[in-house]
Amino acid sequence: MINGYSGATNEKPPTKASRMSTPNEIEAKRQKRIQSAPESTRNILSRAIYGQATRSGAIKAQCLECVGFDRLAITECQAFACPLWQYRPYTPRGKLSGTLPASSPAV
Ligand code: SF4
Repeated sequence: MINGYSGATNEKPPTKASRMSTPNEIEAKRQKRIQSAPESTRNILSRAIYGQATRSGAIKAQCLECVGFDRLAITECQAFACPLWQYRPYTPRGKLSGTLPASSPAV
């Protein structure tokens, strides 16, 4: 059963509109996500989620959430193919592209 649809012959599949979240559901999901973050990072996460952060702030929020809110882990991130890798925060500018291991293929 997918999305409550069992595939029975008299049952209509859910429409796209019926699968969309309501504004209240969206707000609840956003608040749950913000509240699950460490208090010290809730502000940047909240600003990014509500479109009030700069682009670099949104990248910071994404990277923080990605690595479990561990700033050091962002600087040591090995996901070289991630679209945000060259832009990840807390990493000195000169270190960004220069941290690729010698054996890594060019990205
Ligand atoms: S650059 Fe690294 S920490 Fe940032 S989103 Fe990509 S994988 Fe996650």
